[in-house]
Amino acid sequence: MISSQQIKDYAYSLGFDACGICKAESVDVEEQQYFNEWIDNSFHADMDYMARNTDKRYDPTVLVENSRSIICVALNYYPQTIQDKEYPQFAYYAYGKDYHDVVRAKLQQLFGYIKSMEPSLEGRVFVDTAPVLERYWAAKAGLGFIGKNSLLIIPKKGSYFFLGELVINLDMEYDVPLNLSCGNCTRCIDTCPTKAIVKPKVVNAKRCISYQTIENKGEIDRRIIPMLNNRFYGCDICQQVCPWNRYARPHKTEEFNPSQAFLGLSYEKLENLTVEEYRQIFKGSAVKRAKYMGLKRNLYALKQNKE
Ligand code: SF4
Ligand code: SF4
Repeated sequence: MISSQQIKDYAYSLGFDACGICKAESVDVEEQQYFNEWIDNSFHADMDYMARNTDKRYDPTVLVENSRSIICVALNYYPQTIQDKEYPQFAYYAYGKDYHDVVRAKLQQLFGYIKSMEPSLEGRVFVDTAPVLERYWAAKAGLGFIGKNSLLIIPKKGSYFFLGELVINLDMEYDVPLNLSCGNCTRCIDTCPTKAIVKPKVVNAKRCISYQTIENKGEIDRRIIPMLNNRFYGCDICQQVCPWNRYARPHKTEEFNPSQAFLGLSYEKLENLTVEEYRQIFKGSAVKRAKYMGLKRNLYALKQNKE
């Protein structure tokens, strides 16, 4: 039978930066309460899908029939080259190709590898697309711990990581959660320009620049506009101030490298960006989620702060 170590070795050979395995079982009651409270407070804003499918979200064995184990992986996206600080700022995760495609392809390769050794293998790949509590499972699988900014922090590596899961029907040897925490640090809470981190690990999406500039389909909340801090698409502030990210090192995934056209997106360039140029620059990018008009909306908001 394939061992957990063999799976991890293969995951690392595919370029993943971390891999851990935990049992597929019901989510802890405390975590369910925390998530229920987040929904009850409407901190999910208008992302209604977050409030649906709680039976599947709280139990991967309901989500994937016959599931026994969850293989959790992390892929670094910390960039080598960053935008000119004066230009409208994109979150680092959006610099290159869509992470859904890149992480999914690698997980499918991992699935193929396990299947070649275990023909009875069944399972499903998830990359931020289904009701899966990704950070919770990654912490369960010993990849890292959840910081007060609500993100997964990998010791000696930081938090600039995409997460993915492979839920399978095999019993494996399991990892254990790390006994680590933020301690007395509150930097992310103190520095968040919109005070979106209402208490440790709880982010009110309505106040969060990431939500306002990406997921939000309407107008940007006018109370948030003066606090955008030149953030045009997403926001990394609560990661940039985190001491654990002193360990961040540039990724090695070619697909995440930004194009020259992307790096040239000044205020002026974005102002004059045609639909055709938008399509070319963001072909295969997660930025397409915001649509052309969404980017124009964001630019208009940032320009109000410059006037
Ligand atoms: S992403 Fe930005 S706005 Fe959202 S919680 Fe972090 S610092 Fe605050
Ligand atoms: S900035 Fe401090 S409190 Fe926030 S996630 Fe990092 S270590 Fe935790």
